[in-house]
Amino acid sequence: MKKINRNTQLVSAGRKKAYTQGVVNPVVQRASTVVFDSVAELKEAAKKRGDKTLFYGRRGTTTHFALQEAIAELEGGEGCALYPSGAAAISNALLSFVKTGDHILMVDTAYEPTRDFCDKILAGLGIETTYYPPGIGAGISALIKDNTRVLFLESPGSITMEIQDVPAMVAKANERGVMTMLDNTWGNGLHYRPLEHGVDISIQAATKYIVGHSDVMMGVAVSNKKYWPTLRENSYLLGQCTSADDAYLALRGLRTMAVRLKQHEQAAIDVATWLETHPLVDHVRHPAFETCPGHEFFKRDFDGSNGLFSFVMKAGNQQAIDVFLDSLQHFKMGFSWGGYESLVTANLTMKGLRSETGWTQGPVIRLHIGLEDVADLLADLDQALAIYEQHL
Ligand SMILES: *Cc1c(COP(=O)(O)O)cnc(C)c1O
Repeated sequence: MKKINRNTQLVSAGRKKAYTQGVVNPVVQRASTVVFDSVAELKEAAKKRGDKTLFYGRRGTTTHFALQEAIAELEGGEGCALYPSGAAAISNALLSFVKTGDHILMVDTAYEPTRDFCDKILAGLGIETTYYPPGIGAGISALIKDNTRVLFLESPGSITMEIQDVPAMVAKANERGVMTMLDNTWGNGLHYRPLEHGVDISIQAATKYIVGHSDVMMGVAVSNKKYWPTLRENSYLLGQCTSADDAYLALRGLRTMAVRLKQHEQAAIDVATWLETHPLVDHVRHPAFETCPGHEFFKRDFDGSNGLFSFVMKAGNQQAIDVFLDSLQHFKMGFSWGGYESLVTANLTMKGLRSETGWTQGPVIRLHIGLEDVADLLADLDQALAIYEQHL
């Protein structure tokens, strides 16, 4: 059969009769104990160590297998490990491959808890982290040391949205035998598939677009063939598991991800286009716009964008930000993103973001554009920006 297209894949992946028992969706199979009828059956299951074989609840049930299979297929990997959050997926993927005395290279614009994990947990284990600027490209080779074990990327970067030149960096890492991992939460597997660009392990906070409804925490890590046995085994050893109900909801979210993303993408482009010409706005940081660092790599490597982007004000102060946030009606303040609702966060200064020295512009505001009507969102931003201006 001809290779199927992405939308079809999102609908069909992981829908085996063994998981669905003849209906459309997988059965929610909740379990701790798995019971065996014979010694031979138990031995057979033990040999497969839970790889899509029932063994023990912690190693997953058919509900989990359906989700794992679907996500591995989407990202083009050998297997997918599930974790109770995106943060757990990142920390466990790293812990599965580093030991005392190792060195890792971490992008400067990494999601803040990723950074904290390196500084607080890995540092305590005697694992050193060097932060590199997101635009370093092939220049990464100068930072690789003999004990460098992992090159960790996140593209686009958190808040400031820089797109990385992944193939150039992976090539340098490969030359020195350094494995690569990428936080692909923004790229979601539909718009960006890191393994196709040579990355070894792609990690996502499924909490965001896969779940899509702000009601489940989940993380996934998809590995290529080389690293899958170690990732799977070490995730078991670290005791990682998720509930069958959450796996069911994540898979249900995945089925409609393409159509939701299409709406998020267009609405965000409309809002960013409007913001770009607003007199208070310096520039937008949306990977699909030329003003975003690494836009050329976005055009080369990505199949689309989504609802999450930032914009930079020309000027501002804390009071102006506070009244702006308080006066928004449709944009709610809160962490996370990827659900159907619009969200807003603001950073007064980018001094905390180490990637860009000489940052002279004003505050950075990050929006998640939900599924509301764009006209309502623009009216909301318009009135809130007018109030912002009164406080400059
Ligand atoms: C939200 C997020 C995470 C963490 O996911 P949780 O499920 O909230 O733990 C990791 N990386 C990125 C880029 C995120 O946006």
